[in-house]
Amino acid sequence: MSSAIAKISVYAVQVPIKEGTYTMSGGRALDEFDTTIVRVQTKDGLVGWGEVTPLGTNYLPSYTAGARTGIKELAPHLIGIDATELARVNAAMDLALKGHPYVKSAIDIACWDVLGRKAGLPVVTLLGGRFGKTVKLYRSITKDTPQAMAQRIRAFQRQGYRTFQLKVGGEPDLDIARIRATARACRPGERLVADANGGWLPHEAARVVDAVRDLDVAIEQPCQSYEENLTIRRRTARPFVLDESIDSLGALQRAIADGAVDAINIKLSKYGGLSRARVIRDVANANGIATTIEDTACTDITAAAVAALAHSTPEALRFSATLANVKLAFRTATGAPFPKNGEAAAGSAPGLGVTPLMKVLGKPLFEVGRA
Ligand code: MG
Repeated sequence: MSSAIAKISVYAVQVPIKEGTYTMSGGRALDEFDTTIVRVQTKDGLVGWGEVTPLGTNYLPSYTAGARTGIKELAPHLIGIDATELARVNAAMDLALKGHPYVKSAIDIACWDVLGRKAGLPVVTLLGGRFGKTVKLYRSITKDTPQAMAQRIRAFQRQGYRTFQLKVGGEPDLDIARIRATARACRPGERLVADANGGWLPHEAARVVDAVRDLDVAIEQPCQSYEENLTIRRRTARPFVLDESIDSLGALQRAIADGAVDAINIKLSKYGGLSRARVIRDVANANGIATTIEDTACTDITAAAVAALAHSTPEALRFSATLANVKLAFRTATGAPFPKNGEAAAGSAPGLGVTPLMKVLGKPLFEVGRA
């Protein structure tokens, strides 16, 4: 029977970050995730769930109101298309709306959930299967004093984490002190990444990478533009990671040709969901580039999708992964992977294996189509 999309419902939930304000370079700060959850119902009665959670309005070219407006624009074009035919779903979305990958992400994820439920298989299996028993996760360390950041690393170490991503940028002297203090807190075998989120000018980044050249630290997205980052890449021997600059397959292909990266960060919504993120992951991995799997932000639904993509990434090429649902004051679904001892595993129930808590989701913002 056809799994044609019959109805798309959209929910909004604001979830506070229980650990307090999350701060990155440029004074960008966030104390809650404003998430958009999508329910796709098919003609044969299957239901799939997806989610998109932009990180505020000024992290990537994405924002919450844009996600909701975009989904409202797209939804009528998707009614009648088989949710299990992911390439066709994505082609229909691209035909109806140029660009705006983050708008498409929640729908793509929901259709993977439908496909898994119909097949009776977890999404991690559909993506190629599990590498290893679990996925080791990282924790980001919000911008603070060097001492406070080192302290936070020690607290996360006690919880079992072994990879830490420092938020730095904009204050080169203080940033050098932050990197040095946190590097001292790290133990052999742990991984430290200094993520400036594009917050340094090239002359600042050049000073920082030179000042930490004796430390085992990776440098992530030091400057804003790709070209600026490339100049810094060429003058540091530290492992080099790009995130915001690798926003498409074309950007990745250029970075491969330039030898610009050792690792990239894959955020599902940056590329338009699981379908496109998987392509980016596979092309990167095929070129020896390791991948960190995550999303801009998320609650439990995207956490399940992130875990599925991360767990299906070969361990040697898995730089790290993170599940942002661990930071939140309450859950939006049951059945989602949740970090324990610094690691998590993709679900083994069909699809994403999540059951949203309808009391938390409340009434839909809007619905398109009919069940
Ligand atoms: Mg980053």
